Amino acid sequence: MNSLKSSPEGTILVVGSVALDTVETPFGKAEEVLGGSATYFAYSASYFSRVNLVGIVGTDFPSEHLEFLKSRGVDLRGLERKEGKTFRWKARYGEDPNERETLSLCLNVFQDFHPQLLEDYRSSEYVFLANIDPDLHLEILEQISGSKLIACDTMNIWIESKKEILLRTLRKVDALILNDSEARMLTGEMNLIRAGKSILDLGPRIAVIKKGEHGALLFSEGSYFASPAYPIESIYDPTGAGDSFAGGFLGYLAKNGNEGEENLRKAIVYGSVMASYTVEGFSFNRLKSLTEADLEQRYKEFKKLTQF
Ligand code: AMP
Repeated sequence: MNSLKSSPEGTILVVGSVALDTVETPFGKAEEVLGGSATYFAYSASYFSRVNLVGIVGTDFPSEHLEFLKSRGVDLRGLERKEGKTFRWKARYGEDPNERETLSLCLNVFQDFHPQLLEDYRSSEYVFLANIDPDLHLEILEQISGSKLIACDTMNIWIESKKEILLRTLRKVDALILNDSEARMLTGEMNLIRAGKSILDLGPRIAVIKKGEHGALLFSEGSYFASPAYPIESIYDPTGAGDSFAGGFLGYLAKNGNEGEENLRKAIVYGSVMASYTVEGFSFNRLKSLTEADLEQRYKEFKKLTQF
């Protein structure tokens, strides 16, 4: 099962939310199911690399979810369990899977989350700072050293409310992965090529702009790559697509320890493959049965689809 995985040197540290989600889409509704940005990232990256997850849950968090993550080898020593309720998030999607409405967000134990990283996590070669308060990003950045690649995600509320702090974070990270509307909001550039180039001027040497079902754009010094998304006819639940994408992307880079242009491009495709499986079911329903053989098969189909 672990044939795709890297050596311990390629271990990834992820810090983000672990949640109980309630999600409505035109295909149905799932209540209080496993979610969270760190959860989707970790599960996806676990197909390529070892993953250490840092987050917080309440005493109401079902232990079966912990077992589920452990079954993929995700290291949960950094997942705090605190008296109180787990972070909860409710959202609704309409016919356009790129449009979602957040119905409620209850931070609960996440409100006072200030992680102190375990000693062995502090020298992680690869780090993913999932979509959380940029102040927390900075707290974590102060605790780590010697990383090969630090990537982060963000969202509209932080761009609007904490732009200065976010810009400080960006000067300290190697890669920014965000969606198209956030890239436009952050840079003020409506054209995504310009937006990607502007992100590189803010600090990161790699920028990835996700366009949902329309694929992703990759920017690094002197190069540009555009990839479509793997075409899925029935998108049951788009939740977690972005974080699964990031997990596949970073997981592949960590596994290979090489950020050459060719590897970056392959990492984008593995990210897209992971996201495509995530949206085929609610929560982790499709991912649960995903094998490494499935992954490789879809990667090959992706290659055929984009050849001309
Ligand atoms: P994605 O669809 O990739 O953006 O990820 C959605 C996941 O992020 C859901 O499972 C939510 O539980 C979680 N989430 C949504 N909003 C937030 C937030 N403000 N902070 C942290 N996690 C969030």
